[in-house]
Amino acid sequence: MTARSVEYIKGCAKIEECPQDGAPEIAFIGRSNVGKSSLINFLLGRKIAYVSGTPGKTQLIHFFRINQRFYLVDLPGYGYARAPREERARWGPMVESYLLKRNVLRGIVFLIDIRHSPQPLDLQMKEWLDHYSLPTLYVVTKGDKIGWGKRKERLNEIKEAFDAPHLLLTSVQAKEGGAALWKEIEKLLLEKAPI
Ligand code: GDP
Repeated sequence: MTARSVEYIKGCAKIEECPQDGAPEIAFIGRSNVGKSSLINFLLGRKIAYVSGTPGKTQLIHFFRINQRFYLVDLPGYGYARAPREERARWGPMVESYLLKRNVLRGIVFLIDIRHSPQPLDLQMKEWLDHYSLPTLYVVTKGDKIGWGKRKERLNEIKEAFDAPHLLLTSVQAKEGGAALWKEIEKLLLEKAPI
């Protein structure tokens, strides 16, 4: 699949503001600075999601309509220590209500930064996602940031910690992993919606 048409629809602070047309959704989630905006831009082939040097800025749920068929949803990043306290406090209920109430949600793309050993917050996030029984793609970002030898070791470590049979390795810098990720997204969209 390629993104022939991409429209930024809106950023929502509340679940009630999310689109109501019933189109299926694939949501991207990950720690702040994991490379989520960069990966979304890479997939969509244009600079449409905000990439920042200062992590933790996006506290809205952003909707991009792809090929007039489904939404790619950019959930706010978690774990930015310097975010204002009230903002951090808002994150949980906001994302929880998104995961709980959007029955058009077909799957999660969960991003993990290859540079770090599995972090407690990410493992907590995994438990949370498992709790909602949502189909999840585990996507490792910034593949170019570490050398081949270390890369294999880190991927095994991540696989084990997240109990993830498959990892998709991506690098925006090296333009790697985009086609494989699109293929998996397409599969999620074709799967029958959970009742
Ligand atoms: P977000 O906070 O998760 O949306 O992360 P961003 O997309 O803003 O990326 C955070 C930083 O990592 C930026 O400086 C990006 O340029 C950098 N980055 C993102 N993806 C890659 C990648 O694949 N390779 C390299 N080398 N840097 C990346």
